[in-house]
Amino acid sequence: MAEPKENVLMEKLASLCKRRGFIFQSSEIYGGIQGFWDYGPLGAELKRNVKELWWSSMTRMRDDVVGLEATIIMHPAIWRASGHVDTFSDPMCDCLLTKKRFRADQIELQSGNAYHFTGAKDTTSAKEVSEPYAVLLAAGKPPESARKTAAQFYAQRGLQAVELLGERMEKVENSQRFNPENGSLLTPPVPFNLMFKTYVGPTATEADVAYLRPETAQAIFAQFKNVHETSRQKVPFGVAQMGKAFRNEVTPRNYTFRSREFEQMELEFFIKPDEAVEAITGSVTTVPETGHPGEPQPSWGWQAWHHYWVQERVRFYEGIGLSLDTLGFHRQTPAELAHYARACTDILFKFPFSKRDEQGNVAGDELEGIAARSDFDLSQHERSSGKSMGIFDEELRTAFGKLPPEKQTELKDRYYQARLKYLTKSGVPVAEAGAAAQEDADGLAKGQYIPHVIEPSAGVDRLILALLANAFSEVTETDAKGKSETRVVLKFHPRVAPIKVAVLPLLKNKPELAAKARAIFESLRGHMMAFHDEAGSIGRRYARQDEAGTPFCVTVDFETFEGIKDGPQAGVKDTVTIRHRDDGKQERIAASELLTWLLARVR
Ligand code: ATP
Repeated sequence: MAEPKENVLMEKLASLCKRRGFIFQSSEIYGGIQGFWDYGPLGAELKRNVKELWWSSMTRMRDDVVGLEATIIMHPAIWRASGHVDTFSDPMCDCLLTKKRFRADQIELQSGNAYHFTGAKDTTSAKEVSEPYAVLLAAGKPPESARKTAAQFYAQRGLQAVELLGERMEKVENSQRFNPENGSLLTPPVPFNLMFKTYVGPTATEADVAYLRPETAQAIFAQFKNVHETSRQKVPFGVAQMGKAFRNEVTPRNYTFRSREFEQMELEFFIKPDEAVEAITGSVTTVPETGHPGEPQPSWGWQAWHHYWVQERVRFYEGIGLSLDTLGFHRQTPAELAHYARACTDILFKFPFSKRDEQGNVAGDELEGIAARSDFDLSQHERSSGKSMGIFDEELRTAFGKLPPEKQTELKDRYYQARLKYLTKSGVPVAEAGAAAQEDADGLAKGQYIPHVIEPSAGVDRLILALLANAFSEVTETDAKGKSETRVVLKFHPRVAPIKVAVLPLLKNKPELAAKARAIFESLRGHMMAFHDEAGSIGRRYARQDEAGTPFCVTVDFETFEGIKDGPQAGVKDTVTIRHRDDGKQERIAASELLTWLLARVR
């Protein structure tokens, strides 16, 4: 059977990435290690560009966000408070026949006839195995093939001439209990914690256990007070961090999409609870669910902030070349949402491996999740560490004091209910929770609250994969002799392209061309990633740059010295040719204007 088109595309992409030095398998010379990837010279530049663009747009270009760079290993109590120790797990199961491992919740639903066996015996030795087993067959398939698979299963348990026992057939619908590849029954799903464990210090006892962070976000919560106190920011404000995260994924797959070591870019944007906003501004405004809502307003509650951040993130993706039609959105349903979350919108990218529905539409796979997480995270750390995570808001205290008594009661009551819900859901005994919630409600009236948070959380590696898939295109050219050649052009947005400009002397063996090209290259390299290449025909060199995704090639030729031959600019010297990657068009500009021309396009 032919490979599906999308797999062919992924294979081509992976092979290009290896051939051109974007992505290599980690530890390849030792056979690789599953779920780990290295970025080669071009990949490292691409990744650096993406991270710098995120950092700059999230922190330097905003008044209301500051940065953080925390450690990867933190106090293990952080992961107990966040819930990761108890609940950060995926259900895992194994094929009883091949031992292949699956994430139980990701197995495609299957229907058909399941053939169950209570056990088997060896007809030569009378040895018996009483372990039950089953095989699922598509409706209409002969039961013989189920019996053959079952015989293999019992043979693995030491039987030689297998006689199956207690056969029974059952119709099965939408089951995830069988291996989709061979129909074999799977082991029952068991939760598998995704955190990598390690030991701090030399004794390596249970008391020394620590974890590699599975997300960058928790450090932001743990350092919230320090950042708030030192940055002179007032709520609403955000703290951004990017860096490595580690998850021992059950089944790493789809190239770098699901890796075991990856990088995240996360923002925790702290906002006032809606009750505080209402006390200060009179009412909480919501914004339409479509389009960018514009500049943030003091009257925004969590809904408006959540929508704002979804739209800000979409703008970011559009600004680096992922057009809206390549993206998708998934708003988590109430059943999917964590109990403390108010909303979560995933921004998806339509990857070549993303599934199609029956109409052929592709929803896409997650690039980033933007969650409205209430005050859960800071509250958890407050309870767990015993250190206050609340802030004092003078504006709220003044505004609250001026409200009519019935409004004060209404807002306090709403805040009380929200805190009570959080506390009881977190396992605090009812009486204790009631008293604590009452204290929180009284605190609100005095200008105190635990900030709520909106969390846009993106993966660097998934974005790199999206940018590569989005940029990948092939052109077929036929030469004068009728010979066709297909080559790859990576159409990166100039902002993310690993190499921004390649400077090429038209001919290598003309010293004046080579020297001039080298001088131009030297003048550019301090401002952007530039490349100098003199080897091979000019056509070959253009093709090499197209494959690397370089948006502009600058050629130094004879007209640079002798002056332009024809046209309105005839005789003008010291110009260079700029060749555009995507349409091959060329234009001449003065060498002295080159830097400004390029900077306007690559930043
Ligand atoms: P998924 O459901 O795909 O496992 P998630 O919802 O668990 O992802 P989050 O915990 O919200 O992911 O992490 C935020 C972002 O980190 C994701 O949107 C994704 O871009 C990135 N990410 C998460 N897990 C991985 C991984 N194993 N490999 C690469 N990137 C990842």
